[in-house]
Amino acid sequence: MKMNDINILKEALSSPKKITIVPHKNPDGDAIGSTLGLYHYLINSGHHATVIAPNDYPEFLKWLPGENTIVKFDTQKAHARKLLKESDFVFTLDFNVLDRIESMKPTLQSLKATFVMIDHHQQPSDYAKFMYSDTSMSSTCEMVYHFLNQLNELDKITPIIANCLYTGIMTDTGSFRFPTTTSTTHKVVADLIEKGAQNAMIHNAVYDSSSLSRLRLLGIALNNMVMLESLNTVFITLSQKELDTNNFKKGDTEGFVNYGLSLKGIVFSVIFIENGSEDYIKISFRSKGSFDVNEFARAHFKGGGHINAAGGRSDLPMEETTTRFQQIVPSYESKLVQ
Ligand code: 5GP
Ligand code: MN
Repeated sequence: MKMNDINILKEALSSPKKITIVPHKNPDGDAIGSTLGLYHYLINSGHHATVIAPNDYPEFLKWLPGENTIVKFDTQKAHARKLLKESDFVFTLDFNVLDRIESMKPTLQSLKATFVMIDHHQQPSDYAKFMYSDTSMSSTCEMVYHFLNQLNELDKITPIIANCLYTGIMTDTGSFRFPTTTSTTHKVVADLIEKGAQNAMIHNAVYDSSSLSRLRLLGIALNNMVMLESLNTVFITLSQKELDTNNFKKGDTEGFVNYGLSLKGIVFSVIFIENGSEDYIKISFRSKGSFDVNEFARAHFKGGGHINAAGGRSDLPMEETTTRFQQIVPSYESKLVQ
């Protein structure tokens, strides 16, 4: 963040304030880790802070310290609106367009509060007075660390805050293997471990807490995988019926799309997951190298994200969606085959 903005914020936060912290809808490890990390810092500094998430998040994040204080907008609207209305500051973390919070958007737009954005996605919109936007960053959790550093507050990182921030850096970097992982990321992570982050425990809690039905669902997903060999592309489908018969719970399909990229030569992997209750298909795009899935998702599937990881949606049925996808991909041949 610009030093001038940091100084203004530092001054404003020198007396107790009412603050809400908001992650994007369907929050992931980075969204929950960064909002809770910031939450603990603000609470410890004497502020009145609350995390308000648009909706629920996966079970594998429900060990994070303070997660039981998170207010869910979809089921606790009145309480959430009251907290938002009373806020002096609203921190929005891990997203940069208000569409990402869907039904919370009108409420946020109606507030008089000062907005602070901390985010690493492409093409930020300009709703926030204070913007810390950096698309080169591995994760919003890493940015919260740099933000605290700029505030000269690194010594306020407790083991609890370190655990929160470590979680999001780990999940958003695919355990430190995506290209956004820099030497600075590793220095940040090293410092977080020195400050008390329990790295082995966190890995276990997030990745080794699978149910048998989740592994069976993974089996179905891998079985459904279609390879477009001449385009270095694979895609997976999961229907609502397949989810239902395998006791699907939020978060169960997390990471499935990455299996496509473990195939030799594949640079583009996509998963289409039917959401029967909301009547659309949720899509995740992943790539290796220079193929830009943010651009692909924006251009064709009402989504966006990063160069190598993006999301989107389709309002067509599954079969028509995958047909449409297979009609679009060949026009990217020169970018997929090099
Ligand atoms: P996922 O596939 O895990 O849902 O999302 C991958 C990345 O793309 C995440 O960084 C996520 O925040 C972002 N993303 C997912 N869906 C959307 C979307 O609809 N719009 C935008 N702008 N970004 C998205
Ligand atoms: Mn993120």
